[in-house]
Amino acid sequence: MNNPNLKNFIINKKDNLVAAWKKIDKNGKYTVFVVDDDQKLVGILTDGDIRRHLIKTEALNARVDEVMNKKFIWAHIKESKSKLTKKFNKKICIIPLLDDDFRIVDYFEYKINMHIPIAIPNLGGNEFKYLTDAFLSTWISSSGEYLRIFEDKFADYIGMKKGVAVSNGTVALHLALLALDIKGEDEVIVPDLTFAATINAVLHANATPVIVDIEKDSWCIDPAEIRKAITPRTKAIIPVHLYGQPCNMDEIMQIAREYNLKVIEDCAEAHGAEFNGQKAGSFGDISCFSFFANKIITTGEGGMCLSNDEKLVSKMQILRDHGMSRTKKYWHDCIGFNYRMTNLQAAIGLAQLERIDIILKEKEEIENLYRSILSSCTDIEFQKNDLNDRKKVTWMISVLYNKDKERLMKLLENNRIETRPFFYPLSSMPIYEQYTFSNKNSQSISKLGLNFPTNKAVDVELLEKIKEHIQSV
Ligand SMILES: *Cc1c(COP(=O)(O)O)cnc(C)c1O
Repeated sequence: MNNPNLKNFIINKKDNLVAAWKKIDKNGKYTVFVVDDDQKLVGILTDGDIRRHLIKTEALNARVDEVMNKKFIWAHIKESKSKLTKKFNKKICIIPLLDDDFRIVDYFEYKINMHIPIAIPNLGGNEFKYLTDAFLSTWISSSGEYLRIFEDKFADYIGMKKGVAVSNGTVALHLALLALDIKGEDEVIVPDLTFAATINAVLHANATPVIVDIEKDSWCIDPAEIRKAITPRTKAIIPVHLYGQPCNMDEIMQIAREYNLKVIEDCAEAHGAEFNGQKAGSFGDISCFSFFANKIITTGEGGMCLSNDEKLVSKMQILRDHGMSRTKKYWHDCIGFNYRMTNLQAAIGLAQLERIDIILKEKEEIENLYRSILSSCTDIEFQKNDLNDRKKVTWMISVLYNKDKERLMKLLENNRIETRPFFYPLSSMPIYEQYTFSNKNSQSISKLGLNFPTNKAVDVELLEKIKEHIQSV
């Protein structure tokens, strides 16, 4: 008997209902397994059975074997996981596992009624403590110690000199473009496959986006396409490290040097990813992060710009705070914004940052579990994790699926497992279409791509279930 909880599930058939109910109360699973004096399984009793019996007879001293179900679902200990998972239904969430002599050796539980969201923020460290501390300090708005520390430590973690914390990842991109003085006729090259915030920021800066195709293997912006799209008006490139995969930063920085272009890295989905042993977000002139609740680390809503350039940092600090002079209060040198982060958010962010490596490790382990359990599903092609010079991080599980994607997603949704389709190519949407330069790979990859959940509820049983659904399509 390896499972220490098993004793709370086993009751002798001669015991009475009160004894059975005490076990149920202890195991918390609404079920006990009934055995005879030989320890062989003879029935299963649920709290519903007891309730119904009480309503009918009002007798609590009845023997367990008078009330138990003699017909029940069980499985042999050697039965395969996939055969086992087929035995579950809406009512049955726990199944006894028996040896050849019909003795209980373990049980198998399926969390069938659990909703599995695509992401759950991992807030189990100092988040609440720091948040409370910030709250009690009364520094709840956009000044305070946590802001300063979070900016410094996050910049340090990525390998940039300075951080400018802002209200979200989208305004981080906007602020970066404004600080680099990009506007009007200036062209900014963006990848076709990304979240729309990337291109929206360019349009809000009143500059002209140029949408280029992605690489087939990394799904990130294709440096060869960047080269082709450059015109005398090109001012900047926004490489997006998509779904945790870093872009080819060597080539992108080489192109930027050749043509004297600015580089703004969109790192909203890739905190901690590395190219050539250097963190994504430490290559460009400015890098932009998001701390939305489903990102790798979160502040609820939030973002940050990082840079090594003091002048750019100072410009961003001023623009973030209404364009107000930092030496002469209420004197405005430029038309600014209120893009500030609060000290409360920074308190959460600091606690998240303390555990970022643990969070990344946990997500990586979940990904490895997916890769091993779904390895026999030949219709599933995992995002590449062995590309030269690149060390991706796990944000969600990103795969290409060669069959009926809509049907699989519907099937999983019916089983309360949330999935996400890839972003639509920007070029496929009427509002952005006119900015398209190239979009071959992005169209096919977007069509096939979907994301699976990465959160603590993902375990072997759930993956066996997902595998079964994939095989059933
Ligand atoms: C999430 C995201 C953003 C925007 O971040 P918000 O904090 O939600 O504004 C920008 N770019 C990419 C690639 C993203 O995934």
